[in-house]
Amino acid sequence: MVRVTSLINCKAYIKFKPVRTASAITVIDGRIHYVGDSEKATRIAKLLGGEVVDLGGSVVMPGFIDAHMHLDSLGINLNSLDLRGTKSIAEIKEKLKEFSVRTTTKWIRGRGWDQELFAEGRWINRWDIDEVVPDRPVLLVRVCGHVGVLNSKALELVKKAGVQLKQPYFDVDGEGELTGIVRESGLGEVLKLIKYGEEELLKYTEDAVVHALKHGVTTVGLTGCSHEVLSALQILNSLSKLKIRARAYLNHELLPYLRKLGIRCGFGSSRLKVMGIKVFADGSLGARTALLSRPYADDPSTKGVAVISKEELARIVKEASEAGLQLAVHAIGDEALDMVLRAYGEVLSHVRALRHRVEHTSVIRPEQIKKLSEIGAAVALQPHFVITDWWVIERVGAERAAWVYPFKSIINSGVMVGFSTDAPVEPINPWETVYAAATRGAYEGVNLYEYSRDEVLDVADILHYYTYGSAQLLHSEDEVGTLEAGKYADLIVVDEDPLEVDLKELKSIKVLATMVGGEFTYSSRELSIN
Ligand code: ZN
Repeated sequence: MVRVTSLINCKAYIKFKPVRTASAITVIDGRIHYVGDSEKATRIAKLLGGEVVDLGGSVVMPGFIDAHMHLDSLGINLNSLDLRGTKSIAEIKEKLKEFSVRTTTKWIRGRGWDQELFAEGRWINRWDIDEVVPDRPVLLVRVCGHVGVLNSKALELVKKAGVQLKQPYFDVDGEGELTGIVRESGLGEVLKLIKYGEEELLKYTEDAVVHALKHGVTTVGLTGCSHEVLSALQILNSLSKLKIRARAYLNHELLPYLRKLGIRCGFGSSRLKVMGIKVFADGSLGARTALLSRPYADDPSTKGVAVISKEELARIVKEASEAGLQLAVHAIGDEALDMVLRAYGEVLSHVRALRHRVEHTSVIRPEQIKKLSEIGAAVALQPHFVITDWWVIERVGAERAAWVYPFKSIINSGVMVGFSTDAPVEPINPWETVYAAATRGAYEGVNLYEYSRDEVLDVADILHYYTYGSAQLLHSEDEVGTLEAGKYADLIVVDEDPLEVDLKELKSIKVLATMVGGEFTYSSRELSIN
């Protein structure tokens, strides 16, 4: 039996570039069949025995496509202590004490602290945590996801597991004592020790999917997906519980297996596809591990770190390209981007065809933008970094301000662009990202704004790159990204018209309902749809 739904009496944004609207949409068997007026949409539904949903003038638009995020980490976060915005180490202790009583997991996990906000004016250390939790292992990850702090119990377990607790990955104080701060691959080693069972991972993944749908995200790009997470996604899919579309970039260690299996970009179904692999070239600006071409302005002793050698990166890029797999390479500093551009330069014919991506490009020189455009590479941008990295001018200095998050310059140069949140690094709520791209922290007093007002984007453009643009990054623009006839009915109903509200109001727009493939996967109390 065919499933027919007509959404009528709405202002539906069919697409954003150029803006096109309609007042009704008819969905047949999960795909958009008709876009036009309410009268005809009602007639089609009645004729085919379908249902008519009167939206009473609400705004409808394509669902958001978050091109770079981490479903498993988001799920773990939803089930761990949220430390974002914590203003002092004392406040962390208080929250941790309370959380440790009600959580039963072996490891106690928290995430989101930022030492820049601490009243104490110093980093948190293991002795701070020992004061409140001495007997269970604790890991609290910094807001950037590249640095964490462990308590003494956790350090003991990590050491017992045979991990070398050495600099530069494990910090020591003046006396040579471990402080509990762990960085980059050191943190990676620690995370590997915290194992989740299949059941737990399924729950976390499903929680994250529900959370993303509630915020109007209908497709996600999983950048850095382990084999366990891919397996969890497949189980959810087989149980018809994968209510979101997922596009996976597997951890590069899995490349040999993908090659052996002959899995190429696009393998899977419209619900779940393998696109390629994710590789890291450098770290983060927050931790001063992003690789810059010149030293940090606020710490001239370092210019960051390459977390992979040029040769290794080039080898992976070549092997993946030849295997028909898309690449997503994390490069935040401009020298890391040089490494990626060099590696991509050696597989030129594949770059445009496979839409090889660069993740973040936070610090990018004008000639690098031009180069990205010339070779046909794509970039996944996270506009909310502008607000979170409010200290970024201190890190890079005023003379490099024009190189930081130059979204408009990147778009104007013709580079293929998609938007994303890197959730849980930034909030999954797309309206926070839309707001950040439209204001660049002007209302938060972010001083990058003063240097780069010209990089502010139009709301319609932002919505275009956050829907169609992101779909392009995921090779999915023929399936999703606009509400044109023939595409999947992946759409959201919202309580305000994003093109009409004051910029300040953008982040308070609420998603009233989310539809994926013609099925309502979320609806708020305000709009009760069965
Ligand atoms: Zn990420």
